[in-house]
Amino acid sequence: MPKPGELTFVAPRAAKKPPRHLADLSPAERKEAVAALGEKPFRAKQLSQHYFARYTTDPADWTDIPAARREGLRDALVPELMSVVRHLSCDDDTTRKTLWRLFDGTLVESVLMRYPDRVTMCISSQAGCGMNCPFCATGQAGLTRNLSTAEIVHQIVEGMRALRDGEVPGGPARLSNIVFMGMGEPLANYNRVLGAIRRLTDPEPDGLGLSQRGITVSTVGLVPAINRLADEGLKCRLAVSLHAPDDELRDELVPVNTRWKVREVLDAAWGYAERSGRRVSIEYALIRDINDQAWRADLLGRLLKGNRVHVNLIPLNPTPGSKWTASRPEDERAFVAALEAHGVPVTVRDTRGQEIEGACGQLAAAER
Ligand code: SF4
Repeated sequence: MPKPGELTFVAPRAAKKPPRHLADLSPAERKEAVAALGEKPFRAKQLSQHYFARYTTDPADWTDIPAARREGLRDALVPELMSVVRHLSCDDDTTRKTLWRLFDGTLVESVLMRYPDRVTMCISSQAGCGMNCPFCATGQAGLTRNLSTAEIVHQIVEGMRALRDGEVPGGPARLSNIVFMGMGEPLANYNRVLGAIRRLTDPEPDGLGLSQRGITVSTVGLVPAINRLADEGLKCRLAVSLHAPDDELRDELVPVNTRWKVREVLDAAWGYAERSGRRVSIEYALIRDINDQAWRADLLGRLLKGNRVHVNLIPLNPTPGSKWTASRPEDERAFVAALEAHGVPVTVRDTRGQEIEGACGQLAAAER
């Protein structure tokens, strides 16, 4: 039950639910599910091994399971969740964006980015987004529905398989970082995102065995959900999409700010930093003449200094037809200098994927 005054985010009712999948279930629930199919409990472990450790969903590969049982187990617990509409690559093929079609025709995106020292995957947690940020392609289309836990996890399983199989130049590799920064507001799909974090970080073969420290959950600032996440005792990083240090402008750029103000959002973020022991990442899209003025840089520095924080400045990747564009280089440099003058660590994010419509939602919007 929501507390009085707390906003709830209700996804439009989908015509049909996504099919149940192994990755929706905890290890104990998987055992119950195979038992309900008349199988021994160890089949759950075998299926988990194939899916979470070998990344295979093809019953032909499940040679430790009797052939006569494989199709039934596949249909019940490893159904097809999504298919590739297309891959788009750039940066010498080390950035690969994938457009997925889900079982009901819904489109979502994920992006794999290979760097010399790490591989990061940016995944979607919702189809569309209900937060309505006016500079964002996803926000313009509204929320279609929440993704299931398995639909979130499968984007990563496919990314790990592609890396292992050498589909991304640079030789076989393992995923090191996951960022929930694709389509959607992860904390508006709280339970399924939390389930996905558990599947990603449970040791093989119960899950993918990734480190919590390599996972970043981003939010526009849903304060009760940030507090709830802090209570989970995770070591994931929290990223807050702030985009403005003052309520007047943030009310416009991030409409949910009319419900939870800058001060409340930052207080919740510092609480998360305290509980998790991780620095909070403040995401700030620099938009020319909108939020990049010297006085706003100074105000941001004063709000953040002395806290466990790191600022990521993001040169705006304009969406087609948008009136907003990226800041001038001299304004960007001055913004960085103003934050550094307050002792606030800051980096300007590289703008990978721009030529493949890398901002979340642009590829799906173009397809529609
Ligand atoms: S910026 Fe993020 S929260 Fe805002 S509409 Fe886009 S996807 Fe949603």
